[in-house]
Amino acid sequence: MKAADFAYARPDTIAQAVALMSRDDVDAVALAGGQSLMPVMNFRFNEPDLVVDLNAITELCGIEETPGGLRIGALTRHAELMASALVAEHAPLIALAMPHVAHPAIRNRGTIGGSVALADPAAELPACLLALGGTVHVAGANGQRQIAADDFFLGLYDTALEPAELIVALEVPKPVPGARFAFHELTRRHGDYAMAGLAMAVEVEGGVISGARIAGFGLADRPVRLEQAEAAITGFAPGDAQAAANAAASLETLDTHGELNASPQMKRHLAGVLMKRVLSGL
Ligand code: FAD
Repeated sequence: MKAADFAYARPDTIAQAVALMSRDDVDAVALAGGQSLMPVMNFRFNEPDLVVDLNAITELCGIEETPGGLRIGALTRHAELMASALVAEHAPLIALAMPHVAHPAIRNRGTIGGSVALADPAAELPACLLALGGTVHVAGANGQRQIAADDFFLGLYDTALEPAELIVALEVPKPVPGARFAFHELTRRHGDYAMAGLAMAVEVEGGVISGARIAGFGLADRPVRLEQAEAAITGFAPGDAQAAANAAASLETLDTHGELNASPQMKRHLAGVLMKRVLSGL
């Protein structure tokens, strides 16, 4: 199938894009890498009047070091993230996740802003943002605002973005000394969306875990913090087998959502298997 007719605009600035998105006489949608939007339009699940192509907006590009972390422009392609020395140094969790995001052709076009805005519950980057305690910078008709990752993902493909708001950038904090990261997912084929996955950031002080943020993805209707598992490992040495077993056991009551590849029970089981694997490698 082909997309229904639509008008097309290619603004040069965020302000122009927001103005177009805010028009109340048309149903407008932003286009970034198009890796999800175009199929959805071709299937006619989405029939916007106006496509606002963000690809000429240089303000949305680039990865820069800030005093506290990394600011990653919304238009940053997955392939750029994968090749970035700044990401490897200051956001190693994202570097660990990138080889699992889709396939090379999709990584050449798909963007971090598109992935976070789409909020696919099985996507890797939203889970990394949550595990890192990142921030989403957005722009709308009323100016710019920041939304903590903890407050951003509201449900299945649902986020805290207001209808005409755009993601401008994602910000993640730099690792504290002693921080460790782990990432693991299970897919039927490499590059597919995950049936179950975990992204983890832990702080270690004096040989024990002093803080942990673990995000599960592919498990529920959104990426979710696994707070019981975080509590189960805090105060224990990384790799402590009993703490790992307790963390895995805490997932037995997790509220999971089944899909074509795995029932809710299977998801809980897979999450437990992954938990032991990531913790044993910390
Ligand atoms: P688009 O498709 O352009 O947009 C997606 C949605 O986000 C649209 O609703 C659009 O309006 C909105 N949007 C885009 N940018 C912004 C912005 N700056 N502000 C506000 N809204 C915005 N992803 C994974 O994470 N893991 C995978 O394993 C994976 N496998 C894939 C396999 C295939 C075959 C395909 C086609 C895609 C796969 N993807 C996967 C998705 C891909 O990684 C893209 O990241 C994702 O499609 C969205 O990014 P995009 O830039 O293409 O966004």
